[in-house]
Amino acid sequence: MIIINILHIGIDDTDSPDGMCTTYLASQIINRLEDNGIELLDYPKLIRLNPFARFKTRGNGGVSLKISNDNKVSLAKQIVLDEVKKLSMFDCDNTNPGVIFYEGEITSEMEDYAFRAIYEFITIKEAEEFGKSVGCEIHKFKKGRGIIGSIAAISLPLDDFTYELLAYRSSENYGTKRRIDYDSVYMMDKETFPDTFENIDYSEDYIAIEPKTPCPVLYGIRSNAVEALYRAKDIVEVSEPIVDWCIFKTNQHTDMHIQKANSIAEMRQFGCYEVVGKVKNRPKIIDGGHMFFYICDESGEIECGAYEPTKDFRKIVSHLKPGDIVRVFGGIGEQNTFNIEKFQVVKLNDVEYRNPICECGKTMTSAGKNKGFKCKKCGNKIKSSEKVPIKIKRNLKNGWFYETPVSARRHLSKPLCRMDLF
Ligand code: ATP
Repeated sequence: MIIINILHIGIDDTDSPDGMCTTYLASQIINRLEDNGIELLDYPKLIRLNPFARFKTRGNGGVSLKISNDNKVSLAKQIVLDEVKKLSMFDCDNTNPGVIFYEGEITSEMEDYAFRAIYEFITIKEAEEFGKSVGCEIHKFKKGRGIIGSIAAISLPLDDFTYELLAYRSSENYGTKRRIDYDSVYMMDKETFPDTFENIDYSEDYIAIEPKTPCPVLYGIRSNAVEALYRAKDIVEVSEPIVDWCIFKTNQHTDMHIQKANSIAEMRQFGCYEVVGKVKNRPKIIDGGHMFFYICDESGEIECGAYEPTKDFRKIVSHLKPGDIVRVFGGIGEQNTFNIEKFQVVKLNDVEYRNPICECGKTMTSAGKNKGFKCKKCGNKIKSSEKVPIKIKRNLKNGWFYETPVSARRHLSKPLCRMDLF
């Protein structure tokens, strides 16, 4: 058996809201490595970390590359550091790049660190101490916050994974309207869904492959299979140059951020969970269009929110009734509210207690506290004050999942079209 000695390279925190993208920087590094005869051993990885991380620019993504650790290692390291120095958005206060080189196998301790970077907050100091303890070569630029994500990006195991093809624009077009033929995107979705997904939000007529920021990305197509990405790229038409493109292996749309909680009380703020609870009250909409309701179990209760950007998802949520048992997936944010990404109906409460119907067909009314019911039409009376259980028709279905629309979906959220795949 040939044992390949591996050099892992992690890069993070190079971009700002005004421009750049760590994936673009990685694609430039890959080109220069290839020009120098250095090939990657696997697809470059784009790893999404804690969605609640404070200093993220957008989707909290770090990138990692794997090459063989041979006589070109110092050249490879030089190329990586040169490109990070050349392309990072150093003028932005919040851009604090970090680069990690690590030679050898990823240990279980490093894998645990990577999951912590998805579930919890890690300080720069902690990351640095951890990196040193496992033998990482650490390069910090400015505050070097990027080392937190860089160590995680090289360390995270990918059992379930997806791919994203990112096409990049020519620099003179940065910040201008992207010239993508939308009809061709609809065509691409028709031909390649569900192998590709998250292309279009049909309810909003929203082209999700097109970023809305001034970054170098022209479009990004997400998929379960590389072959589908090639087909998709051939179908999407654009009328501006694509200067480069690159396929990344990612943890996007795998639900890797979701931890199973056995009770409501064990969930913590800024964590993402799957938990089962009983709906306590009818969902209510407030000013601004956000919708809220409570779920409870023996351990406590928590307010759940379907926010305005989730659009028609709120209509689905509005069908929930007290007594329904639901499994909710999402995260507990700033306001301590559980922000729902999707939910499954475990058991609908399809019984409502109503006033009895009189023999004459009219609904009876209360005859006073503990005095039974009376019929206003025929004067009939019954002694019992017990309401009668009636089976009601529901608009939701037992066992079904309901999800937020594509336009409101988190990078890490697993869409329903992937639920049976892993
Ligand atoms: P883009 O998606 O456009 O690449 P971004 O949203 O990934 O941008 P970054 O510029 O990478 O934003 O900034 C995120 C910062 O948060 C990085 O410095 C990263 O190291 C750090 N970070 C990542 N995960 C955690 C965590 N769990 N705790 C604390 N900091 C984290």
